[in-house]
Amino acid sequence: MSSQDDYEQLLDKLYSKLPEKTSSGERFEMPRFEFFTEGNKTIVKNYKAVIEKIRRDPEFLSKYLSKELAVPVEVQGERLILQRRLTGDIVNRKLEDFINKYVMCKECKRPDTHIEDLGHKVRNIVCEACGARKAIR
Ligand SMILES: [Zn+2]
Repeated sequence: MSSQDDYEQLLDKLYSKLPEKTSSGERFEMPRFEFFTEGNKTIVKNYKAVIEKIRRDPEFLSKYLSKELAVPVEVQGERLILQRRLTGDIVNRKLEDFINKYVMCKECKRPDTHIEDLGHKVRNIVCEACGARKAIR
C-alpha cells in the first residue's frame, strides 16, 4: 500500500464522519386524512391529529369541508363524521385546498401561520416566519 492510498483512505474516513448537510427549514409535509366509509357515512380517523398539525380551529375546517362537499359534518372526539359516502381522493383534495388557502403563507410558502381575528368578519393570516399578513376572503 502506497502512502497515497493511505492518504485517500484517511480522507474517506474524515468525510464519512462529517454530518449530513442539513437544509434550511424542512419541507412541509402536507397532512392527509385517513378515512373509511361506513354505511352512508365517511369517517375521518385522524381529524384531531390533522388539526393539531395545521393549528386551525376544528370548527373552521369542518365548516369548510361541509360547505365544499355539501354534506353535514360532525366532529366526534378525534374523528370527523361526514354524512355521506365519499370515495376517492376528494376529501384530501379539499383538505389540501384549505391548507393552501388558510394555512400556508403566500409570501414564503411556510405553514407557520396563525389567524388574526379583527372582528366584523375580518381575518388575516399572519406568518410567524416572515411576518406577512394577508386578509382572508
Ligand atoms: Zn411567510
